[in-house]
Amino acid sequence: MARIIDGKVVAAELRNRVAGEVARVKSQHDLTPGLAVLLVGNDPASEVYVRSKHAQTQAAGMASFEHKLPTDVTQAELLALILKLNRDPAVHGILVQLPLPGPLNAEAVIHAIDPAKDVDGLHPSNAGRLAGGFAALTPCTPLGCILLTKSVHSSLEGMSAIVIGRSNLVGRPLVQLLLNQNVTVTIAHSRSRDLPQLIRRVDLVYAAVGRPELVRGDWIKPGATVIDVGINRTAAEGGKTRLVGDVAFHEALDIAGAITPVPGGVGQMTVACLLANTLRAACAIAGLPNPAV
Ligand code: NAP
Repeated sequence: MARIIDGKVVAAELRNRVAGEVARVKSQHDLTPGLAVLLVGNDPASEVYVRSKHAQTQAAGMASFEHKLPTDVTQAELLALILKLNRDPAVHGILVQLPLPGPLNAEAVIHAIDPAKDVDGLHPSNAGRLAGGFAALTPCTPLGCILLTKSVHSSLEGMSAIVIGRSNLVGRPLVQLLLNQNVTVTIAHSRSRDLPQLIRRVDLVYAAVGRPELVRGDWIKPGATVIDVGINRTAAEGGKTRLVGDVAFHEALDIAGAITPVPGGVGQMTVACLLANTLRAACAIAGLPNPAV
């Protein structure tokens, strides 16, 4: 029976470390890290995420600036707000809640964010720095995946991994982070041949696909660590929906060495890593050493 990796516990530990370092930079350097979150429109799921980010930012002792914009905000108005936040010394992190509604161009919006404040790690400057092996602000979900893996294995050096999915948000940055940990990485996507065979060879499985229970239990190498990024809503009894991951959890439990549940795994880590990125950005902008988080 696999060990279940509790994302709630790992995320709470990270939030505590962040809160401790925030208190330290406040008292030693009079620096209050600030995060600005921009939400366009009223998508209910996005509103829930933004509320949670606001509450957790404040609980960590940071300043939280929420900007709710109407669905019909123009691209020019949105870009003007980002340029204002780029210049605002109280703001160290800027996050635009994606997806953006309507005709708004997400790529142009991401490009407008000052890379030093790009706490989502999506600006090409940060993506390029990460790919080059240089220090960078890195997307939060892949960072969370590494921390969850490290809660099981103190060193990942020499291990083999597969990352299933190659999005800019998850798969690609995760591959780079694993390389930085000296892991040997296979990258799979929708055109990969014989996925079960590729998965069976590796010590670490990262599923970031968005297909409910795509990865079956008997595809997994006995004892492997499985990190399930997928969040899929499927029909359940009584007309309700339930969340499932990209891995058939109950099948994998009998074979894996350790596995993250959905919900309660990777999803817990994303906001905690956002807080850590905001603190890192604040320290870097102020010319302080990297915080110990
Ligand atoms: P995405 O942009 O849609 O990318 C999905 C990737 O999966 C693509 O690279 C695609 O390949 C690949 N893929 C699709 N079908 C496949 C198949 N049958 N076999 C192998 N690969 C296949 O999705 P994403 O934004 O990376 O998100 C992935 C999942 O993670 C979603 O369920 C999302 O909800 C979840 N997510 C969770 C969190 C969190 O906080 N827990 C954060 C972000 C995302 P191609 O490139 O060839 O099309």
